Amino acid sequence: SALPCWIGLDVGTSACRAVAIDAEARELANARVALPAPQVRPDGGVEQAPDLWWNAAVTALARLGEALAGRRSVAVCVAATSATLLLADRNGVPLGPALLYNDRRARAAAARIAAVAPPTSPARGVTSGLAKALHLKASLPIGTEAWVLHQADWLAARLGGALGYSDWNNALKLGFDPAAERWPDWFEALDLAPLRLPEVVAPGTPLGRVDRATAAATGLAVGTRVVAGTTDSTAAVIATGVAEPGEGVTCLGSTLVVKVLAERRIDEPACGVYSHRLGDLWLAGGASNSGGVVLRRFFDDADLARLSAQLVPERPSGLDYYPLPGPGERFPLADPDLLPRLTPRPEDDVLFLQGLLEGIAAIERAGYRRLHVLGAPAPTVVTTIGGGAGNAAWTRIRARELGIPVRPAAHREAAYGAALLARRAG
Ligand code: ADP
Repeated sequence: SALPCWIGLDVGTSACRAVAIDAEARELANARVALPAPQVRPDGGVEQAPDLWWNAAVTALARLGEALAGRRSVAVCVAATSATLLLADRNGVPLGPALLYNDRRARAAAARIAAVAPPTSPARGVTSGLAKALHLKASLPIGTEAWVLHQADWLAARLGGALGYSDWNNALKLGFDPAAERWPDWFEALDLAPLRLPEVVAPGTPLGRVDRATAAATGLAVGTRVVAGTTDSTAAVIATGVAEPGEGVTCLGSTLVVKVLAERRIDEPACGVYSHRLGDLWLAGGASNSGGVVLRRFFDDADLARLSAQLVPERPSGLDYYPLPGPGERFPLADPDLLPRLTPRPEDDVLFLQGLLEGIAAIERAGYRRLHVLGAPAPTVVTTIGGGAGNAAWTRIRARELGIPVRPAAHREAAYGAALLARRAG
């Protein structure tokens, strides 16, 4: 009989990625399919049709299947963008386009939530899933029953999972309490009916199986288990394999994100600090406005690689930068007026880049310190993901700044993390 494999999908805003792994968690194949750009509206709306996700997922799975040469899929798991959300009817048919994570129209709904939610609730804010659900409810014909589903929830259901399920991580910004494992009492005051909230389960929980028609379209085996997913950023952390309290994960992407595994939960929405549940542990994290977006204003990726190879990490530049793309910082310190500090700029681009990398490393250190002050452990080791993870010179600068071992992650793809979740489900 055919050798088994486990499949992870990562559906974002710009692309769908699929990864297959074997029983030893070795990557067997991957595929990537681009998504059409979302529709950005003048009123702050950002929308995408869920069918585009489905079409991209089917194409990615079919390509993956071709590369797998007869392996039999055992389970599939979908990671997707946090707080990208839609309403669907009882058959899972979307009742309109999805609101993407960065849709900012739910201001009135966010104000209603702010009046009843505790100050530490991750459901606060204009882009939270709960704000979007309330916003969408207002435009539904009176009395229409509608499931509130995240991107990952809807896709899992289309693959063959039962409709009306979500996971702790996706449901966090919808207001679900992942410690008590229930919806909070203050939901009563929001008058959510006739919206139907999903039942929330642990990521990786079996939800159903792939049927014959879906198998024919995707190349998945008939009967492949569909398991509950997670958010894309949580899946990327799962991909790294971090498992012990005190292990840190830094994402050097467009923005700088620092996370640390903790035994207890910390939430500080004022500076964007949330904790995602990871098994019996908590992944506490915060995102700065600083990060690769600032590097990209001055250098393209080829410049970054070339200049980084020339700098001397052990010889500090002496430049005291706070690199930001514009005014305003949210974490480690929430200050909407904080100005970027990027002067004086030396003639030498190598030295200038070193100043930028040191500046971002200093924010990384301050980020871990802030999480520690809020109750998370100080990190003992940091694993790195994102576009800057492979920069060896920067790794040395950061290790010096943080005073602990810093290493690139062997695996950093959300789709790989989703495949690991699928594999755990057996
Ligand atoms: P996103 O958060 O947008 O998904 P990625 O994880 O793909 O971003 O990372 C992209 C970022 O990585 C860019 O902003 C870019 O400046 C940065 N980057 C790319 N190559 C390097 C490098 N060699 N050194 C440091 N940063 C880099």
